Amino acid sequence: MKAITVIGGGTMGNGIAHTAAASGFDVTLIDVSEAILQRAVSTITSNLQRGVDKGKMTAGERDAIVGRIRASSDLGAAAGSDIVIEAIVENLDAKIRLFAELDAITRPECILASNTSSISITKLAAATKRPENVIGMHFMNPVPVMTLVEVIRGIATSDDTYRRVEDLSKQMGKTPIEVNDYPGFISNRVLMPMINEAIFALYEGVATREAIDGVMKLGMNHPMGPLTLADFIGLDVCLAILRVLEQGFGDPKYRPCPLLVKMVDAGWLGRKSGRGFYEYRK
Ligand code: NAD
Repeated sequence: MKAITVIGGGTMGNGIAHTAAASGFDVTLIDVSEAILQRAVSTITSNLQRGVDKGKMTAGERDAIVGRIRASSDLGAAAGSDIVIEAIVENLDAKIRLFAELDAITRPECILASNTSSISITKLAAATKRPENVIGMHFMNPVPVMTLVEVIRGIATSDDTYRRVEDLSKQMGKTPIEVNDYPGFISNRVLMPMINEAIFALYEGVATREAIDGVMKLGMNHPMGPLTLADFIGLDVCLAILRVLEQGFGDPKYRPCPLLVKMVDAGWLGRKSGRGFYEYRK
């Protein structure tokens, strides 16, 4: 695989474009507006600059990586790709529309991958005429730092597509782990109930926020406690993923804690809104 297109220049898209270009690939980065694309490229440049400041790369290497990224607001720029990695908003209708468009624009052998956290890969594949070439590539935030790629096989994903994506993940310096397409895959199916349980413990007054996070950090060797992590991920995102688990399995064990629902209703979304389980200065 040579030509990679990344769609969406937000948090995840710019991290994926950065990592792919740093691994020597030619990257086309597509977003809906030129302004967002400019911001994405300047974020990538300043993240690479940190490596230059630490003496890990030269200014020439930084420029070469940025030079391998071609930004475009025209979806047609994805036409010649070997793989498209989609990282747009987490919205089913928007992703289905995009996959149908990509199916029409790209060559039939081009792999269509999604970085979705919770949407069914099988459903996205069904919007195309090439379900065997559709797969999940679930990168973790921040992409240049985190080594995992959860590779999700939809019901129709072929072994060949899986192997090509496994190879690509390794070429990007990542460790791919194979997972089947069920709600929340593995990462969120295991993580979100833990976060939800921590919120229930707070709601029931079992312990303070600091005590809950402290037990999980010191006792379980987690780098951050579940309430701090929820604030970092975004409480709206946590709630949406719990709803996907609850509806997808039809099992009340995934019922979101009423405190989480109330905080999202209040606009207390965690770090990004300045207030979640903790307070943050904007
Ligand atoms: P974000 O909001 O930072 O970025 C989304 C970008 O997509 C925006 O720049 C937006 O302009 C662009 N976009 C929206 N619709 C588009 C379209 N039709 N065509 C082209 N561009 C479009 O979101 P994010 O946090 O980067 O998340 C992107 C995806 O990655 C989501 O599916 C999310 O679930 C998943 N994800 C996020 C994280 C995380 O920690 N943020 C981790 C793993 C996976």
